[in-house]
Amino acid sequence: MSISRRKFLQGLAATGLTTVLPSTAKAASRGEELATLLDLSKCIGCGACVEACKETNAHKFPRPKKPFPKMYPSRVKPSDWSDKQDVDDRLTPYNWLYIQTAYVTWQGEEYEINIPRRCLHCQNPPCANLCPWGAAAKQANGIVRINDKICLGGAKCKKVCPWHIPERQSGVGLYLKLLPSFAGNGVMYKCDRCFGRINQGLVPACIEVCPQDVQTIGPRDEIVAKAHKLAKEMGGYIYGEKENGGTNTIYVSPVPFDVLDKAIEKGPGRPHLSSVPNSMAKEENLAMAVIGAPVAGLAAALLTGISKVSQDKQGDKDE
Ligand code: SF4
Ligand code: SF4
Ligand code: SF4
Repeated sequence: MSISRRKFLQGLAATGLTTVLPSTAKAASRGEELATLLDLSKCIGCGACVEACKETNAHKFPRPKKPFPKMYPSRVKPSDWSDKQDVDDRLTPYNWLYIQTAYVTWQGEEYEINIPRRCLHCQNPPCANLCPWGAAAKQANGIVRINDKICLGGAKCKKVCPWHIPERQSGVGLYLKLLPSFAGNGVMYKCDRCFGRINQGLVPACIEVCPQDVQTIGPRDEIVAKAHKLAKEMGGYIYGEKENGGTNTIYVSPVPFDVLDKAIEKGPGRPHLSSVPNSMAKEENLAMAVIGAPVAGLAAALLTGISKVSQDKQGDKDE
């Protein structure tokens, strides 16, 4: 499924290196909530988007120090993907997007449906609302990001995410400077919607490189309207508009998603496609978010300060 680096660069050259956001989406880059539409009837599973994501975001990937500190209690196992950075058939700290494939028969017809999977950038993201350290946050333009400078790798975000999207790498991050054996266990990683490119008015790398124009990006209202039009035209189905209270990733497929869900391989790093109720509507999550928000805000400020001091010290040593 994966394509070579050369093919990826050829793909970029073919599509143009500087694809810019359409004018409507430029407004989104200034703060309006941005969503993507994925037309699954078009995806051929070529993997160009997966390779483009790896190429574009390689500078953000973890560079762990080994050996890892021993953790107490010992049941807290380290997660290490640093020797498996080429894995591209599931989500890892070094692979934020992969292609899930479903072979199904629906209404007498056979289908191969390829599904690009990554963080859905929820409108009310439990990963951000319930992070005890304020390390995960949703931006005004709809991007949900984990701050790798202050994430301690405790994996609360993964636990509360209905798709268990974020993946941990040990031996990296602020926990090494704090209480390496007791606090967290690394840093959590996931798609950040190429936030730097969006800030520059460019589309995310996975969208730019796709030879089939599977993805469209724009203000959420427009994307939802397009998704409904497309679904009506193909007699298809929508996923992501209502899931978990609404996400900023809207899939449209000619085959129902519960049928796809039964056909895909699921497990660690391979999320499901079943319907998801709004997890932030659960009383315990709502209460936790209300109580935890001020504490998380303070923790984030404190950890940002510690991270800054530690970087300054490292800078002094390097000089
Ligand atoms: S989304 Fe586009 S680039 Fe990615 S696998 Fe599908 S066709 Fe290829
Ligand atoms: S899909 Fe999971 S990781 Fe992504 S924003 Fe939603 S809750 Fe967070
Ligand atoms: S938006 Fe960027 S970070 Fe997210 S999957 Fe696409 S290329 Fe990767």
